[in-house]
Amino acid sequence: MLGYVRKNISEVEYHTWFAPVKNLGVQEGSLVLGVRNSFAQEWFRKHYLELLEDALRSLGAQNPQVSFQVLPAAQDALLLPNDPPPPPPAAAPSRSAPAPASFENRKVLNPKYTFENFVVGPNNNLAHAAALAVAESPGKAYNPLFIYGDVGLGKTHLMHAVGHYMTERFPGKRIEYVSTESFTNDLINAIREDRMTQFRNRYRSVDLLLVDDIQFLAGKERTQEEFFHTFNALYENHKQIILSSDRPPKDIQTLEGRLRSRFEWGLITDIQSPEYETRVAILKMNAEHNRIDIPQEVLELIARQVTSNIRELEGALMRVVAFSSLNNVPFSRAVAAKALSNVFAPQEVKVEMMDVLRQVAAHYNMPPDVIRGSGRVREVVVPRQVAQYLIRELTDHSLPEIGQFFGRDHSTVMHAISKVTEQVGRDQEITAAVEVLRRKMQG
Ligand code: ADP
Ligand code: MG
Repeated sequence: MLGYVRKNISEVEYHTWFAPVKNLGVQEGSLVLGVRNSFAQEWFRKHYLELLEDALRSLGAQNPQVSFQVLPAAQDALLLPNDPPPPPPAAAPSRSAPAPASFENRKVLNPKYTFENFVVGPNNNLAHAAALAVAESPGKAYNPLFIYGDVGLGKTHLMHAVGHYMTERFPGKRIEYVSTESFTNDLINAIREDRMTQFRNRYRSVDLLLVDDIQFLAGKERTQEEFFHTFNALYENHKQIILSSDRPPKDIQTLEGRLRSRFEWGLITDIQSPEYETRVAILKMNAEHNRIDIPQEVLELIARQVTSNIRELEGALMRVVAFSSLNNVPFSRAVAAKALSNVFAPQEVKVEMMDVLRQVAAHYNMPPDVIRGSGRVREVVVPRQVAQYLIRELTDHSLPEIGQFFGRDHSTVMHAISKVTEQVGRDQEITAAVEVLRRKMQG
């Protein structure tokens, strides 16, 4: 039953909520699950009851019933969620050993990896646009489409999104998603079991072939050879090929020249680490999907702590959620900082310029752009000076950088800072503003 659950939620979610659950057996026709506290009990009722009932139905139950019981407390200390799960293997969906016996058209697309669920930002907009173009006219826009970028930045997500899109738009088209590892394993098994015809049929009869983490072809001569022929067969028939890798083709060592050049025939596009705004947007979407009501400022704190990898970003969110629920405390910046302190090096929370500006704008009830604008009346000048003062204090940015952010030169910023410095302690309103804002941003 947990297998069914696991397939339908994220790894982190599963690990956070389901790993600690105890199966207490069936009582009066209802499956009883033991959970850690009343918050978890409530959480399960609200978020997972239907999923669990579905899971029982998938096992043949006609009228499934699930109830929850709080387990006796194991300890009084602060409960930390389980350690984060190890990152899933490069190929997201589980198509693990042992190798399946038959090669029917298995769909292994993760239902969550759709275009709708993909947040577009400056870091990934080109890859997103290319993937969408390919999904709309497979085999015609760019072939192959080669997406590269570091781990956890959305390559697999985008590939699956194309798969989903095509499944909906062009039912009947055959789609095959495979990690380079599975492709290699399939090949090895096919050779061993004398099933090469079957193997070739499988990969050469599709309309869309998605091959993930193609960098693992490096050094595998036999697989490269076979993939070369697969590629040609599909390409000649105008079938779409999408490849992902952690680096561009030119940097994949020991890749045959003829494959490398083929990978460069179509479009090569990269995904970079998301910037702060995109990270916040991703967290927001994630929270909404998981029906977690969490204040924006907490999401902002998480987005500041976890900067490089989206998988870790999602993990951090689930960790904060688990921490606050297990300890039965509401979400706050302090709680989030505590929840994350074990996982991420206790670093000072980094505050970015835009973030400071937003807080100042909110404090003065004024749009950020007005503060950054050219207005010279006191109502705008004071917030602008306070913002520059706080940015200087709370971030590592230099005076010229701050000046540029405000469309002014560094001497103007210097003037603003000395102005506020003078008034702190004298002018009540400015003193209060600086103190309130500083406290808010330092958590
Ligand atoms: P990669 O294949 O590049 O290692 P994945 O596609 O597995 O990365 O993405 C890691 C996680 O981050 C997944 O849960 C994915 O849904 C999520 N993710 C990545 N990019 C985005 C995005 N732009 N918007 C929303 N979620 C994203
Ligand atoms: Mg991947």
